[in-house]
Amino acid sequence: ASMRETRTRKTKTVCTFCGVGCSFEVWTKGRKILKIQPSEGPVNGISTCVKGKFGWDFVNSEQRLTKPLIRQDDHFVEATWEEALDLMVSKMSAIKHTYSGDALGFISSSKYTNEENYLMQKLARQVFQTNNVDNCSRYCQSPASWGLQQTTGIGGDSGTIQDLAQAGLVILIGCAPAEGHPVLATRIKRAHKLHGQKLISVDLRKHEMAERADLFIRPKQGTDYVWLTAIAKYMIDNNLHNPAFIQEHVNFYSDYLKKIEPYMLDFAEKETGIAKETLIQVAHMIHEADGTAICWGMGVTQNIAGSYTSSAIANLLLITGNMMRPGAGAYPLRGHNNVQGASDMGTMPDIFPGYQKVSDDAVRAKFEKAYGVEIPGVRGLDNIEMLAAIARGELKGMYISGEEMAWVDADSNHTQEMLASIDFLVVQDVFFSTTAQFADIVLPAVPSLEKEGTFTNTERRVQRLYQALEPLGESKPDWWIFSQVAKRMGFDWNYSHPSEIFAEMASLTPFFSQCTYDLLEGWNSFHWGSPDGTNTPLLHTNGFNFPDKKARLARFDYVQPTVFPTEFDLTLNNGRLLEHFHEGNMTSKSAGIQLKLPQVFVEVSHELAKARGIQDGSLVRLESPYGAIKLRVVVTDRVKGNDIYVPMHSSSPDTAINLLTGGAVDVITHTPAYKQVKVRMQVLEID
Ligand code: SF4
Repeated sequence: ASMRETRTRKTKTVCTFCGVGCSFEVWTKGRKILKIQPSEGPVNGISTCVKGKFGWDFVNSEQRLTKPLIRQDDHFVEATWEEALDLMVSKMSAIKHTYSGDALGFISSSKYTNEENYLMQKLARQVFQTNNVDNCSRYCQSPASWGLQQTTGIGGDSGTIQDLAQAGLVILIGCAPAEGHPVLATRIKRAHKLHGQKLISVDLRKHEMAERADLFIRPKQGTDYVWLTAIAKYMIDNNLHNPAFIQEHVNFYSDYLKKIEPYMLDFAEKETGIAKETLIQVAHMIHEADGTAICWGMGVTQNIAGSYTSSAIANLLLITGNMMRPGAGAYPLRGHNNVQGASDMGTMPDIFPGYQKVSDDAVRAKFEKAYGVEIPGVRGLDNIEMLAAIARGELKGMYISGEEMAWVDADSNHTQEMLASIDFLVVQDVFFSTTAQFADIVLPAVPSLEKEGTFTNTERRVQRLYQALEPLGESKPDWWIFSQVAKRMGFDWNYSHPSEIFAEMASLTPFFSQCTYDLLEGWNSFHWGSPDGTNTPLLHTNGFNFPDKKARLARFDYVQPTVFPTEFDLTLNNGRLLEHFHEGNMTSKSAGIQLKLPQVFVEVSHELAKARGIQDGSLVRLESPYGAIKLRVVVTDRVKGNDIYVPMHSSSPDTAINLLTGGAVDVITHTPAYKQVKVRMQVLEID
């Protein structure tokens, strides 16, 4: 064995399994991962969860892609990088020249580093001159970012995870951090248990944090906008709000008062199913708390009006003065390790890095000068619109990287039909995903342990990860692959290290203008958020991100949940389990995790089980207007009445939740309404 293989190496990395952003040392010998050693991570200290500690053996999976593949008729053959990249570039440049760059679509990844996301948008905009670039925050957090941009001018968490621990009251809406953000949840658990913090959970499912909460509220699906607004109105009417804060820091107050007139408690009770007394209780808890922080997740955002509901959360915080101070504010909980960073880096159709608008002439001129090309000034296509453009015959080629679109888009049957019908598809991934089955070229990329770069966690904290392992086989870091594509198209980027990519991004992006790799050395980190580019743990200190520094109360109408035909009588909820990551294409390759949770199931209430004569282990078929899946039943009091719950992680295509979800999307951001689905249930076997 070589010297390298006999020596134990300790490399600092940042966890790739969720947006909390735990960091730790990974001890390796050769390709063997000996242990995960947390110690000085600014987020987690000595803690990790089961995924961060034990979820890494997928990097040595036999199923890793190690060579580029090229389709030949109905099968793939191995190719060299030269062959694959030359073919890819000849096809993509032919599409660009025959039609235009707008006939191509680029999908980036929330698992990528910031540097790679920056390059993906640069590839789309500089090399192919299109704004058709997007990432999977479209599927989860875009509504939260939009709601905060409308109200505070910027789409990021108000403070840090430490602020959550300091808050007098934490309200969790449509999120289950003990499952989805475990180490963040431990901070809340500790504050709640030891330091008198109050906790409210609003959810359809009684998850672990809901069990711990002082108050658990189960609203009707899709009605959060109403109860949030009704509580705001009640607080104003009863002088429980913060007039001094409103006077000094908030615009549009009188318009807002008019807009919320209809949101009386009686109306809210009828619409949401939450008793008036409970709404009043919440209002008083907010009033009495020394700082209220609201965390929300996909139970809010994955609805047809997730954007409006996110702005209603910000409104409630603003009228009660729960912003611009430690231990308070708005905390959308980001799912992927770098979902915040992917959007920050401008892999979205309407923004450059740092949320600078492509429609802003001065901004565009800056990027055109830096990139040496003309860039379209109109918004490109998002990922939902790209599928629609395939159907219209307008989108001819796609470059999907780090994204399992075939399963994570809603209505998988439709998505797969679109992927099958596009002229030319390149898929870049660590594994041969289902999406890759539709590809013409498959490029083998590397997981986080095999590359360098930075991730940005849910609290806007940028952290460096260092390379712990060599790329497996001939797989390559995604930033290298993007550079090779650009080079063959005549743009020699010539980066020798991700630090150079970061420096270029920072020079074009005010939020990052003061941030360098040196500042991020080792365990150090940096919170973006201030227009002057300095470190900003607390987002709003000197007012809000508008020219007059005042926040803007949002004034929208309530959008009622989608009505399904009455035979679809069960409300289907879905979400995470602690042990798995998303659709499971990494964690399902981890033997330890698979052993613990081999297959997904459907949670059914005691009432529903009784009514249908089923029990634990019964086999049922769930059918929505879009598709059907078969699952085993778990009878539980976590769900109630006709609400059922299916975990979103599936290691088998036959049980994938998105065979049931449909085409409805958030009115603003096009985030699929994954949480607004009704199904009917057929019993196949009682036990
Ligand atoms: Fe990784 Fe999230 Fe677990 Fe931390 S909480 S170890 S970031 S999965």
